[in-house]
Amino acid sequence: MSFSIHGLSVGRGLGGGIAIGRAVRVLSSRANVAHYFIAPEQTEHEVGRIRNARNAVVDEMQRLQQSLIVQPKKDAPHELSAIMDVHLMLLQDDTLADGVRHYIEERHYNAEWALTTQLEVIAEQFDAMQDAYMRERKGDLEQVVERVLSHLQGTARNAAEIIVGGDSDEPLVLIAHDLSPADMIRFKSGVFKGFVTDVGGKTSHTAIVARSLGIPAIVGAKSASSLVRQDDWVVVDAEAGVLIVNPSEQILMGYRAMQEKAAISKATVAHALAAPDGSTITVLANIELPSDVPAALAAGAQGIGLFRTEFLFMGRAELPSEEEQYAAYSEVVLAMKGLPVTIRTVDIGADKPLGQDAARAKAAHANSALGLRAIRWCLAEPAMFMIQLRALLRAAAHGRIDVLIPMLAHESEIKQTMLLIDRARTELLSKGVAYGEIGLGAMIEIPAAALVIPIFLKYFDFLSIGTNDLIQYTLAVDRADEEVAHLYDGRHPAVQFLLETTIKQCVAAGKSVSVCGEMAGDPAYAKTLLDMGLRAFSMHPSQASIFAAEINNLQASKNPAILRSSPSSQGL
Ligand code: PEP
Ligand code: MG
Repeated sequence: MSFSIHGLSVGRGLGGGIAIGRAVRVLSSRANVAHYFIAPEQTEHEVGRIRNARNAVVDEMQRLQQSLIVQPKKDAPHELSAIMDVHLMLLQDDTLADGVRHYIEERHYNAEWALTTQLEVIAEQFDAMQDAYMRERKGDLEQVVERVLSHLQGTARNAAEIIVGGDSDEPLVLIAHDLSPADMIRFKSGVFKGFVTDVGGKTSHTAIVARSLGIPAIVGAKSASSLVRQDDWVVVDAEAGVLIVNPSEQILMGYRAMQEKAAISKATVAHALAAPDGSTITVLANIELPSDVPAALAAGAQGIGLFRTEFLFMGRAELPSEEEQYAAYSEVVLAMKGLPVTIRTVDIGADKPLGQDAARAKAAHANSALGLRAIRWCLAEPAMFMIQLRALLRAAAHGRIDVLIPMLAHESEIKQTMLLIDRARTELLSKGVAYGEIGLGAMIEIPAAALVIPIFLKYFDFLSIGTNDLIQYTLAVDRADEEVAHLYDGRHPAVQFLLETTIKQCVAAGKSVSVCGEMAGDPAYAKTLLDMGLRAFSMHPSQASIFAAEINNLQASKNPAILRSSPSSQGL
């Protein structure tokens, strides 16, 4: 049966916002199960893990059954042995084993993912049964799968070593109740053509990472993960924020034609961008990992406007060392070959928690949008922060780095940060370690900061406006909560006032200012921001072509002669 589900559009991607593929469901009830792709040569190893776990459970149950026969327990229901027979039968049934093997061999899922996926497939078959007794056997199946899963957990691999990739022949679309930004990063290698989550707002970090993947994505699709079945054909129409499940052949043809048209129009985007008054517009890129740099360059970005370094810290057991961070920052600086590089100090917290290892569980637990997040966490953990500052200063020896500090509101926080930077510099100097010059900038993302811009201009070389948080904190609307997404509005006069006052004061003071929140890449805001005086826009590379097309439209409508005489454009 064909049906559609509505949500919030967060990413368009190169197919013009349309993805077509088979649904891969990741369900919240088993959210603590690792989902990752294995290398093809590890197939046998993964099948072996499942076999061993299943054999261990069979052994365990047979031993228990035996003990019940030898020494009957007083409080054990007399049908316990019969129930265990059913469990053993389900466990040894070929349908379970064959399905699991299929997902490991054909899709390259890890063992846990393959097992829970096959569980869902069989559970649906039980649900469809006429016989009530048989329908109830679904619960038995879930219990035995849980037992196998807990055995598998003992042989699970560390999340930090997870291999991403997968090379299924069929296009796949990820459907999940929710995904953490760390999970999204694991899928960065491009195996999914689109993704849909039940929860999340447009500027939640999961949505931001999805946008950086350059794939069509929808969040806040409420019940998608329970309505869509494993392997259903789906169309993600991220333009309209609609997921179409089991589309008819005719609808599929229509969407395929739209995909092709979008791919052609992408090649007709201009390179050098100018505002209607002729002044130059700078397009910068937002990145999460050094491996994003090629996409930024390919999109024509004239620099990195925001490197969200927290993605080096998330989804792993240990914090990154100074050497690892130094290598990552140096890689970006060298790859950008003299173009501006802005690296933001770690912004952990709110919807970007750390891993749950014991050492940092307290910090991860306490994090909330109003809690120990970003610079607040850094100042509370100076030893951790100093490691990052030393790594940044050392990487600056390869080329200038603009260091950006998130979530500042108080002058005292600015002073403490400056003190730690000086201390990091002194430490390197005393040890004779090479370091370079850095520029220093502040994120304006708390309304209190936007209301005292002169204080920030006194200390900083540049400012960057984080509209994602500025909107959240100005309107008291959780950016990750789809229930209040209709109130999350960048056009609210209070938000517009804070944007305008920040931009105008920077321009008047001759200090550079950019917007690096999602608003920067949204063509609907381009004219408003230009009219306020903004000329630097930092966005995901996947948004650059659409943004450039809008700027060219604004230019052309201001001066129709440009439209008639402009040579054919190049890819941005
Ligand atoms: C912002 O808040 O607009 C921003 C760019 O930072 P982040 O989305 O990482 O919080
Ligand atoms: Mg922010």
